Amino acid sequence: MKAAAFEYLKPQDVPGAVKALAGSAGDAKPLGGGQSLGPMLNLRLARPKLLVDVSRLEAMRTIEDKGAFWRIGGAVTHSAIEDANLAGCTVMSDVARNIAYRTIRNRGTIGGSLAHADPAADWPLALPALAATIVIAGPAGERSVPAGKFMKGAFATELAEDELVVAVEVPKLSPGARWGYWKFCRKTGEFPEASAAMLMDPERKLARLWVGALDGAPQSLDALAADIAMRGTQAVSETSVSAALDLAVPGQEPVSRRLHVTAVRRAVQKGFN
Ligand SMILES: Cc1cc2nc3c(=O)[nH]c(=O)nc-3n(C[C@H](O)[C@H](O)[C@H](O)COP(=O)(O)OP(=O)(O)OC[C@H]3O[C@@H](n4cnc5c(N)ncnc54)[C@H](O)[C@@H]3O)c2cc1C
Repeated sequence: MKAAAFEYLKPQDVPGAVKALAGSAGDAKPLGGGQSLGPMLNLRLARPKLLVDVSRLEAMRTIEDKGAFWRIGGAVTHSAIEDANLAGCTVMSDVARNIAYRTIRNRGTIGGSLAHADPAADWPLALPALAATIVIAGPAGERSVPAGKFMKGAFATELAEDELVVAVEVPKLSPGARWGYWKFCRKTGEFPEASAAMLMDPERKLARLWVGALDGAPQSLDALAADIAMRGTQAVSETSVSAALDLAVPGQEPVSRRLHVTAVRRAVQKGFN
């Protein structure tokens, strides 16, 4: 099947892209790497009249060291993050390296992944765990949203139709921080069936534990994270993780629950190794 006919616009800058989106009354879509939008167009699951290509906007393609955090443009590809030397935040490269395979990573962008909001995707899980912020541009200017509040459900986000993810800001980790990330994929390069991310950064007073690849948005296991901050891996058992998941993800079917319990335990174990 081929995509329905659409117009293609290559704007000069972010305000130009936002103006085009705002002027289209919901008939336009931003184009990032096209790794998800391309198939959706071909299957006619999306039929925009206009594609606004943001993948080449220089302002969205830069990675900047801002001192306490890295600012990564919304059109930066997964492979650029994989290859970047993000001092204090090398975990971003580790996450990127395990997204799909290199050809997908060469085109897929961090902003596109967040906007697409696939529940099993990596950035919607990793960024809340890293206490990152999503920077959004729209007709009224820029606004920032904590990554944990950006995704509202499966394929649903904070974004209005005339808004763009222009950047993500990822705080640098303290030298003593512990990070653990785990995902279960049937095959390398496939979306995971269960995933989990843990950050323990006592210097920054951060204790975060998130699970992903759920039916909806990733969820945080706050009480268990606080317990891990106090007792380390002793806080983590089959029972304690199951209890935390009962609260955060009630009614999960048993096989999925089993995979998520193990993903959480392995993410924590990895962080403490
Ligand atoms: C075979 C395959 C395997 C994959 N495996 C994984 C995986 O293991 N883990 C993972 O995380 N991902 C995976 N992906 C997803 C991929 O990594 C891309 O991140 C994802 O497809 C979206 O990024 P994109 O830049 O291609 O966005 P596009 O496909 O261009 O756009 C996706 C959506 O986001 C919107 N959009 C794009 N950019 C922006 C922006 N800057 N601001 C606002 N809206 C925007 C578009 O309008 C569209 O609605 C896989 C994809 C494929 C095809």
